[in-house]
Amino acid sequence: MADRDGKIWMDGQLVEWRDAKVHVLTHTLHYGCGAFEGVRAYKTERGTAIFRLEEHTERLFNSAKILRMKLPFTKEQVNEAQKAVVRANGLESCYIRPLTWIGDKKLGVSPKGNTIHLMVAAWSWGAYLGEEGMKRGIRVKTSSYTRHHVNITMTQAKTVSNYTNSILANMEVTDEGYDEALLLDPSGFVSEGAGENIFIVKNGVIYTPDLSAGALNGITRNTVLHIAKDLGLEVVQKRITRDEVYIADEAFFTGTAAEVTPIRELDRIELGSGSRGPITERIQNAFFDIVNGRNPKYAHWLSLV
Ligand code: PMP
Repeated sequence: MADRDGKIWMDGQLVEWRDAKVHVLTHTLHYGCGAFEGVRAYKTERGTAIFRLEEHTERLFNSAKILRMKLPFTKEQVNEAQKAVVRANGLESCYIRPLTWIGDKKLGVSPKGNTIHLMVAAWSWGAYLGEEGMKRGIRVKTSSYTRHHVNITMTQAKTVSNYTNSILANMEVTDEGYDEALLLDPSGFVSEGAGENIFIVKNGVIYTPDLSAGALNGITRNTVLHIAKDLGLEVVQKRITRDEVYIADEAFFTGTAAEVTPIRELDRIELGSGSRGPITERIQNAFFDIVNGRNPKYAHWLSLV
């Protein structure tokens, strides 16, 4: 991805895409202490708008706080940086990646005395789990890797190092031909996908794991909680077992990259009708109405660039 035209915001300045580089002795590259966000901008009638920009920036600052990293920028500057990157690259709809890392002033586990950096990049990125998956649902397998225990790494922070676990799980199941991995928490309860929160539907009620299962507090997850309320659907946040997913009527993943992706199969067991379920479809439609600016109730979630 390095060799292309465009601009990346790096420590306060827009630099050429090809020049946005760090040194090999960068602390985060060695020890994995860093945090990032995944944000999307959508084309709306009023122009390109970033979805829930403030919430993403807030989570980035919270992740940094949890990691004891003091960002040398204000939230307003980070919001503006994201808008500037979308504008500078002339993108109508895109994925935005802010990342904060510890610099190259010294190595050794303690980052004390080192510098903290921030960059924001943006590029076009379509349906993360495929257009077909959005309509028909994807095939998921429970990973043999356990999701993080809440006191081993910090699960409310979107940290760089948390994703080694996601990568292992995703590679394990995609090597076997599945689309995505489902991870269980250390007690064996359903936690989340490698990069998504999970919801199931049973007898018209929606269920999602509560955050004690070590899942990220997803912004799309929160959006779905609002949508369900608007649609008059009950949502219960609770511990969920793997076999509750097997016998669910419907299931879907949520995430900024994955948006709302139906799950048609878990561990080769067909879920419900084995395709996108009707409640999933209603939530998906409501989600795309909101992000594309077609629902005035949520206009405040869209920041024009
Ligand atoms: N869980 C994990 C592990 C993720 O990587 C993501 C994507 N950020 C999510 C859940 C969903 O979070 P969000 O809806 O805020 O993108």
